[in-house]
Amino acid sequence: MSAKITNIKPKRSRPNRAPAPDLDRIAQGVRLILEGIGEDPQREGLRDTPKRVAEMYAELTAGLREDASAHVVPLAGDKHDEMVIVKDISIASLCEHHLAPFVGKCHIAYIPKNGNILGVSKLARLAEAFARRLQLQERLTSEIANTLFTQLQPLGVMVVIEAEHTCMTLRGVKKSGALTVTSAVLGGFRKDPRTRAEAMALITGKTS
Ligand SMILES: [Zn+2]
Repeated sequence: MSAKITNIKPKRSRPNRAPAPDLDRIAQGVRLILEGIGEDPQREGLRDTPKRVAEMYAELTAGLREDASAHVVPLAGDKHDEMVIVKDISIASLCEHHLAPFVGKCHIAYIPKNGNILGVSKLARLAEAFARRLQLQERLTSEIANTLFTQLQPLGVMVVIEAEHTCMTLRGVKKSGALTVTSAVLGGFRKDPRTRAEAMALITGKTS
């Protein structure tokens, strides 16, 4: 098992809102792929495949047509100001280099300001809105962190994603189970190495 740790600097996220997916066009492309690999798109098992794949890609890129920041709605009237950590949010995304899935877990830590916290389901939706599009794991990590940081305005944010990229594990070097680990650290977590270490230990379940 190998782990690559990349630390990402803050960047502005791309604007949202792509047009509605053109299912016929995706299906046409899938038919070409089938022909290209020497299959017969008319044989029984493949007849509905282009349509099914088109629907799957529409679903896996639904985040393109969503405003991710709309999920960051603070819970009213809470006074919590200790570090919040939500671990093991499942994510499934598509690598933009191969259109192959990468799947894994997203962990989000933040230090609230003025008691502003976010429900766990909202954090999961935020992660999903950015995962459901063509992505790079590094960008996915920083987009989640940046949006949480600018919308919720906490004292600090840390996002860690561990994922297996099928474009790596199913082909080439075939390192089955190899995980890529990325993190994005903003605000107080960035300035204070002790707080960062504490959050990282809680996330990974290890103490240094
Ligand atoms: Zn890839």
